[in-house]
Amino acid sequence: MSELRKQVKDDLIYYTSPQLSVYPRLRHAFFTRTGGVSAAPYDTLNFRFNSRDSRENVMKNYDIAAHVVGSDADHVARTCQMHTDNIVEVTENRGFVQMGDGDGVDALITNVPGVVLCGFYADCQLIMLYDHKHKACGIVHAGWRGIAKEITRKTIEKMTERYGSNPSDMIAVVGPSICRSCFATDNDVPEKMRETFGDMVQEYMYKEGEKWRVDLKNITYTMLLRADILPYNIDISNLCPCCGDKTQFWSHRRDGEERGVQAGMITIAE
Ligand SMILES: [Zn+2]
Repeated sequence: MSELRKQVKDDLIYYTSPQLSVYPRLRHAFFTRTGGVSAAPYDTLNFRFNSRDSRENVMKNYDIAAHVVGSDADHVARTCQMHTDNIVEVTENRGFVQMGDGDGVDALITNVPGVVLCGFYADCQLIMLYDHKHKACGIVHAGWRGIAKEITRKTIEKMTERYGSNPSDMIAVVGPSICRSCFATDNDVPEKMRETFGDMVQEYMYKEGEKWRVDLKNITYTMLLRADILPYNIDISNLCPCCGDKTQFWSHRRDGEERGVQAGMITIAE
C-alpha cells in the first residue's frame, strides 16, 4: 500500500497512484474540485450536469480533465451513478456518452485503447482497477450501498469473465473517500455490512452514543483481499473529502446538494 501522490499543474490539482503510474500506457487521475471553469458553488472543476452550472462550463471541465489523461471529452464514457451493482462493458469508443438506459450504471470496464472511463465522487469511494497482463481497466463507484452489494468484487469477476483477468495481476486503487470519523450512521449500515460480510466486519464498526461509525476504507480493503487482489497491489487514499481540505473537495455530507462533484478518469492509451 502506498499513499496517492498529489499532482499540481497550474491551478489543477489531482491525485495519482504510484501502483498505476508504473504502467506507461495506463493513464489515470482522481481529480479535485480545482482547475476548472465553473463559478460558485460549483467552483471550479464541476462535472455535474443536473445542477445550475451551465452545460458549457461542465463540458469545458470534461475537456480539461480528459486532457490530463491524454485525451478529450469526445472519448469519455461515464457512469450513471445510482448506488446499483450494475456493471457495463464499454466495447467501442462512442464519443462523449453516459452508459446505461436510465437504470443506473455504477461500474464500467473496457479493454479498448482510447476509451476514457469516468466516474464521480463526493464522499463515496471511486475504485480504479487495472489488469496489467490483459490491458483491461475498470472504474467503480461504491458508497455503503454499493459496498454492501459487493459491486467491486462483481466488477473484478466481470473482468475475469470478459478478459480472462486473474486478480493476482490486478491493481486496485481507492480514491479520496469518507473516513470512519465522518461516517456516522444508524443501525441500517452495520446491519447490511454484517449481512454481506459476516463477523469479519465487526472490528471496522463501533458505536459512539446513538450513532455507529463505520470504516468503509478498511471494509473495502478486506473485500479486495477476499477477491484475491494481492495486498501489495492495493492503494487506498487516506484523504477524506468531508474532514479534508474544503478548497480541494466537495463533500455530500458537509455541503449538501448545492455543490459540484469530483471525477476520476482511467484509460489505456492508444
Ligand atoms: Zn473525514
